[in-house]
Amino acid sequence: MLKEALQKGAFVKHCPCSPGSVPCGYFNLNLHSGCPFACSYCILQAYLENKTQGIFYTNWADLEAELEKFLTKNQEVRIGSGELSDSLAYENVRPSAVRVLELFRKFPRTLFEYKTKAIHVQTLLGVKETPGNIVVSWSLNPPRLIRDEERLTPPLSQRLQALAAIQEKGYKIGIHFDPLILFPDWRKHYRELIRRLAAVIRPERVAWWSLGTLRFPAELKKHIFKHRASQLLWGELIQGPDGKYRYFTPQRLELFAFVRDEIKKQLAGEIALYLCMEDAYTWKQILPGMPTDEKSVNRYLYESAARPGK
Ligand code: SF4
Repeated sequence: MLKEALQKGAFVKHCPCSPGSVPCGYFNLNLHSGCPFACSYCILQAYLENKTQGIFYTNWADLEAELEKFLTKNQEVRIGSGELSDSLAYENVRPSAVRVLELFRKFPRTLFEYKTKAIHVQTLLGVKETPGNIVVSWSLNPPRLIRDEERLTPPLSQRLQALAAIQEKGYKIGIHFDPLILFPDWRKHYRELIRRLAAVIRPERVAWWSLGTLRFPAELKKHIFKHRASQLLWGELIQGPDGKYRYFTPQRLELFAFVRDEIKKQLAGEIALYLCMEDAYTWKQILPGMPTDEKSVNRYLYESAARPGK
């Protein structure tokens, strides 16, 4: 179910983050919306009338003009297309990734990121010269959660194969462990996920790696109940000042610290970790020594990805 439309608003938007959280300076590029995957935690269920209806914006001349203006004014920009959709979920039925890539080839100082759970990477693999400013990121969870929470997404093994091929082709890689979810034996499952990833990933190719625990606004609750096998309510959740449900702080700290330590243990080399939608207190506990102002966080991640050899 795909539709074309004109983007009547802005294509480029500052990532809204969450009140009270440390923002990372990211920008979203709204090229399309809707997603064919049926993730139980997906916020699009609450935001979009028909989440599975893919809408592609066709006014590319406006997009190019807006980008040109924005990128001449802003330096060290990290921008991606995975906010209102999965960047590559429709790539097998309506390819657009290479067109986007060619657009960003003209802006080599800008880092563009595809964020996906999909495996449709053939078009990106077919590009003759891989630009140095493109990051292809996978959102990953243990197979048990893929089965229960990300029902229509490709299995982990296929995502890892796609990741390996993209890495081999010379693209930078991004990883998103978001949402991290508490469920029975979560330590064992996350340790095993990181072990499988470590067997594939070359740490020096990793632009950045985000960690974010489960969070959702109250409106999403009724959608979660439709997912009968969901584990989302296994951990205890509390509503925060921003209205979103999250795990209690000690549980979030435990989850973050465990995953951080496993990543450090199992992957040699420096990996630029950051937290998504977390407050300064949590940052200081989990990533001590890291700055918590937006400009410095963005610079840290930008420089990590732009480092020669990445
Ligand atoms: S931390 Fe997450 S939500 Fe906040 S600005 Fe960055 S990407 Fe956006």
